[in-house]
Amino acid sequence: MISSVLSTRRGDISLPQFVPDATRAVVRGVPTSVLQQTGVDAVLVSTAHLVSQPGTSVVRALGGVHRFMGWSGPVLSDSGGFQAFSLLTGQKGLATVSDAGLSYRFSPKQRFRELTPKSCIETQLHLGADVVYCLDYCTHPLAPDAEQEKSVALTVRWATECRATFDRLVADTPPLQRPKLFAVVQGGQRADLRTRCADALMDLGFDGYGFGGYPIAAGQLVDEVELTARLLPPGAVLHGLGIGTPESLVAAWRCGYSIFDCTLPTRNARRGVLYTGLDTRNLAAGGRVSRIARMSDEKWVRASGPVDPGCDCQLCAHYGAGYLAHLFRVADSLAQTLASVHNLRFYARLTAALRERVPGAVR
Ligand SMILES: [Zn+2]
Repeated sequence: MISSVLSTRRGDISLPQFVPDATRAVVRGVPTSVLQQTGVDAVLVSTAHLVSQPGTSVVRALGGVHRFMGWSGPVLSDSGGFQAFSLLTGQKGLATVSDAGLSYRFSPKQRFRELTPKSCIETQLHLGADVVYCLDYCTHPLAPDAEQEKSVALTVRWATECRATFDRLVADTPPLQRPKLFAVVQGGQRADLRTRCADALMDLGFDGYGFGGYPIAAGQLVDEVELTARLLPPGAVLHGLGIGTPESLVAAWRCGYSIFDCTLPTRNARRGVLYTGLDTRNLAAGGRVSRIARMSDEKWVRASGPVDPGCDCQLCAHYGAGYLAHLFRVADSLAQTLASVHNLRFYARLTAALRERVPGAVR
């Protein structure tokens, strides 16, 4: 039986759930009161970014991440591992990895920040997150075998230290007031490494597990996404990190994943790319469940009706598509806000539709 909710100390997260990326403690351009109306239960903040700016001590001084950003629902905080990996593979000199952990900075002008298993958990607890993640070492799927082996060895070692740090820090906290602790399965494309990583993490025992790595190749879910789901305990809450398009989300849900996050819907929204036409007929069988509307297309300039007649978001309920097209053309920030609200509402309607169905689980 796949869980229908993830209960946290700040309320239940209905599953499946798409969790918007509030990387810097903000879903860009969207007030939290408006965000709530889109139907999302939780947000995901970036530990690495908040450590860098404004700094953990500032967030703490301002009452913790919930009060800081005006969001009373559950907050997930990533470990910073994927962020560090992005910096490792980008411009040289921005990140390094050692057995002790990761060092990173977002620009050559900044000083390095250290992310160790201990500091990773301490920081997330100081921020006040409700679902925290063990530090993991992400790799590119095409990285050499030795790198994948190292990734799994470090991910398991760091998860062991994270588990111990977490248990020590919450020892005096009543169980229902403790955050949830998730671990991330790495292993690239190697089934044996994915198995080794999943087995070791299950031995440690976590409240949920994430798929680590690149979930998508050539627009399709990679096979490891399904394999990893099969390796984990039936009924466990699985997070498909970085998933993705509406179709990828549905495909991962069919494998057993029930938490998703991705910058795609809000990033696309800010570029005037909107998801429309939710088609629930293909949820069980696969296939397209969405269409794309590009506000740059001249056809929208004189469109009087809503962008998506089937949507009940603030954009579609109050404005015609021609108005949104105009806002993008005059570069008013309201365009990005309304488009983001629409895309998040699309994902919320999609996951609500999935909740009414039993996943065609392979597990
Ligand atoms: Zn809408």
